[in-house]
Amino acid sequence: MKIRVMSENLANKIAAGEVVEKCASVVKELVENSIDAGASSIKVNLVDGGLSAIEVIDNGSGMDRDDAILCFQRHATSKIMRDDDLFFIETLGFRGEALASIASVSEIDMDTCSDEIGTHVHIKGGVMDEVSDASARTGTSIKVTNLFYNTPARLKYLKSEVTEANNCIAFIEKLALSNPNIAFVLTNNDRVVVKTSGSNNLLKTIHEIYGLNVSSNMLEISTSSDDFEIKGCVGKPSVLKKNRSHMNTFVNGRIVRNNELNRAINDAYNTYKHEGFYPVVVINIVTDPTLVDVNIHPTKQDIKMSKMDELTKLLYKVIKDALYNNLLIPNALVDEKLNEVKDNFEPVLEPDEKIVQTSMDFTQKDDIIVKNEEFKGLKLYPVGQVHGTYIIAENETGMFILDQHAAHERINYEMIKKKMQEESISTTEMLIPLAIELNAADYNSFMASKSVLEDLGFKIEEFGINTIVFKAHPTWLTKNFSGDNLRTIVDLVITNQKNFNKDRFLDNLAKMVSCKMSIKANEHLSREAMEALLDDLVKCDNPYNCCHGRPSIMKFSNYELEKMFKRVI
Ligand code: ZN
Ligand code: ZN
Repeated sequence: MKIRVMSENLANKIAAGEVVEKCASVVKELVENSIDAGASSIKVNLVDGGLSAIEVIDNGSGMDRDDAILCFQRHATSKIMRDDDLFFIETLGFRGEALASIASVSEIDMDTCSDEIGTHVHIKGGVMDEVSDASARTGTSIKVTNLFYNTPARLKYLKSEVTEANNCIAFIEKLALSNPNIAFVLTNNDRVVVKTSGSNNLLKTIHEIYGLNVSSNMLEISTSSDDFEIKGCVGKPSVLKKNRSHMNTFVNGRIVRNNELNRAINDAYNTYKHEGFYPVVVINIVTDPTLVDVNIHPTKQDIKMSKMDELTKLLYKVIKDALYNNLLIPNALVDEKLNEVKDNFEPVLEPDEKIVQTSMDFTQKDDIIVKNEEFKGLKLYPVGQVHGTYIIAENETGMFILDQHAAHERINYEMIKKKMQEESISTTEMLIPLAIELNAADYNSFMASKSVLEDLGFKIEEFGINTIVFKAHPTWLTKNFSGDNLRTIVDLVITNQKNFNKDRFLDNLAKMVSCKMSIKANEHLSREAMEALLDDLVKCDNPYNCCHGRPSIMKFSNYELEKMFKRVI
């Protein structure tokens, strides 16, 4: 018998909480049991988004008759044997009460088999009224109907069919991404909505879930330290989403939603993307389970971890390096082309057929996209200016369009960041010192943090009541940066004063100053000025975006131009 009853003591240790609140929580508990049973194929069938029925069929180890009966008892679990084990949990589910809770508020039909004779169990409102023989198919199939039929108060918290179905889809998608070795099928009213092949290939699974446009724009990451191993795929900045739902992080195979990890990921994309856009990432973190505390939240999605600092630094670096080493020039036609291919995808295609199409496209794409390294340092020649805003340039490989403000801003941003890191400071005395009057609160806030500006080479003195005067500024602050703009720097210090973070402040300062110092749109440029801009841009670490993530340069390769004008088919 594999399942034992937990000690009462242990049961009390487990934080109480609602295990079941929506259809997705039922799906979660059932599917996690299937994973724990070693299933390599899991099928979930919903009727009306799960409101009418939730069925989970797996090919896992199944249960013998004793376990089939015992698993519906509160605190029955095969995973926790002793109190101590609670702190070394590696399996996904660990609350013995999950099945019992579900059974107490619904009707369940379960067929399970681990050897020659299968067992059928029927249980309604927590009462087991039937145990009989069933077919000998190895695995478990469990069907939950009439959820919350006996608890009308909770019934009314269930959302619409669409919402419940979407929650289930989101959950199964994440689970499939964290288990590429398991084949998942999710249907709603007999329509397949999620299907993965269990190929144990993460990129293939990403393709099956998110489609070609995403899977063909992923970069692989891999790194480790003494305590952590990080592996996965992160999206190029050319595929961004409006919310965080495509940010998938898994710790020891468990889906986690953690603000610190999300922040580290987003910070790594700093200046590669607009604020309010989020990357697609699938990241697996493996660590010693003793470093993880999963018990802080009843739904087990958030985690607390020792050595979180070490982990976020490692994560930040591996993503940042991947972007830096692999970034591609935004290519005007590629996105459109990929979307076309994606739209032509038949959702009923077998996974194997899809992959054939993917790999075909990978090679096609390689022809047109130019790699970062190939572009950097290349000589670009100006052709002319359009609307006083865009610069057209060329070289032997194609035609380039630049946004002159975005390009100049990138050049200035990287220059300022470098200057900020230099040991020696060079300052310029101001011919006319600038006095700025503040209110008392702002004055105090500013004075508390002004040393961060002084370290950069600003000379700031007190000047009467609640007034400061700027006497000198760092030399990198060019003449375009007039007196009024110093006021915006003061404001930036004041608004950043709460929870002051020096790195973040300096980065924001560099962004703001580089924007103000840069050529604006509707500004005529001489040929020499355009040449200088192009030469400086190709020397940048990331020539492709302004510091806010807007594109600064686009390329039309010769091949694309020929395609556009049907010189080649
Ligand atoms: Zn700007
Ligand atoms: Zn910008």
